Amino acid sequence: MTQSKLKIMQIVSSIAAMQRLAKKWQRTGTRIGFVPTMGYLHAGHLSLVKRARQAVGKSGKVVVSIYVNPTQFAPTEDLSKYPRDLKRDLKLLRELKADVVFTPNDAEMYPNKSENGFSTYVVEEKLSQTMEGASRPTHFRGVTTVVAKLFNIVLPDVAVFGQKDFQQAAIIKRMVTDLNFPVKIIVAPTLRERDGLAMSSRNKYLTGDLRQQAAILWRAIYTTQAAVKKSKTVSAAKLKADLKKLIESEPDAKLDYVEFFEPETLSPVSTGKFGTQMALAVFVGKTRLIDNTRL
Ligand code: AMP
Repeated sequence: MTQSKLKIMQIVSSIAAMQRLAKKWQRTGTRIGFVPTMGYLHAGHLSLVKRARQAVGKSGKVVVSIYVNPTQFAPTEDLSKYPRDLKRDLKLLRELKADVVFTPNDAEMYPNKSENGFSTYVVEEKLSQTMEGASRPTHFRGVTTVVAKLFNIVLPDVAVFGQKDFQQAAIIKRMVTDLNFPVKIIVAPTLRERDGLAMSSRNKYLTGDLRQQAAILWRAIYTTQAAVKKSKTVSAAKLKADLKKLIESEPDAKLDYVEFFEPETLSPVSTGKFGTQMALAVFVGKTRLIDNTRL
């Protein structure tokens, strides 16, 4: 095989180099599929990469970004402790035949931020008010800002996000519509561990007994699904009270929120029924986990 036929995954750190590459692909009509991540990859992330490949085909290019975005973490959160293993991530992405891994750094993404050298943010004002937005007030501003920046750098035709972060996906879709980004958003299903726990880089924090207690999020979901199957409509207030009890029957679990809402508008509803979206956030020890499902 000649050198030109060997598919070598490129690792690009410079924003200018990534943009140049993307523009070159655009000029030749090559479709670009994009998966933004914070790294420490698991099978859930990899399923998004496969979905991106499926969307752009063999002749398209798949770009995966690995960037732990500081603006979506509050000062009290786990930015510095967030798990990282670039070497392993690159190995996994090579095996999946990703074309480019984009690994920008803070100095280029947010130049002179501490000296007020960065001051433009993208803010979604409706869907980001509840749930994750209420518990983590500056989180979505950081997410929409970094995703907008990444879209301007990677110039994707298609970007794949996980259903695991349901509210995030809804906000990104809204941003793309509102600001006319020429990107198709695909939302891919949540991959789970054998006991139902949604895969997450943060599961690494669940040491000892906490790992087994974390399955309570999935138990909360299927208990609710069973209640709705049985009674067709159930008061959201009753579901919330029952779920708080169930979740906090685990010694180290504390409910942050559980919400029932319309999947499109994210508006809260007073009864849970088929088609209602449910989302919850639970602290297991110090680790905050989220999950969601369509009832
Ligand atoms: P993160 O690295 O946590 O920012 O996640 C990057 C992308 O992977 C986001 O679009 C997430 O929604 C998605 N993702 C995270 N966990 C899962 C999972 N268990 N299954 C599918 N997608 C996921």
